[in-house]
Amino acid sequence: MRFTFPILCLCACGSDHVCRELCDARGVFCAFVCDACETKKRAAYDPRVFRDAAYPTDEPIESD
Ligand SMILES: [Zn+2]
Repeated sequence: MRFTFPILCLCACGSDHVCRELCDARGVFCAFVCDACETKKRAAYDPRVFRDAAYPTDEPIESD
């Protein structure tokens, strides 16, 4: 479920920081992060996805 307007909520990591959406260079939602855990959560993704909207994907596209 997505909200149609931004709301401030505390991050689930327990830091008591306000969380925000982490999106990649294509604007695809990745995760909710805050200042305390953004670095850690970004590390779970290929850093290229945040720099280049034309990042390669490992997932083969099924043409069938
Ligand atoms: Zn956090």
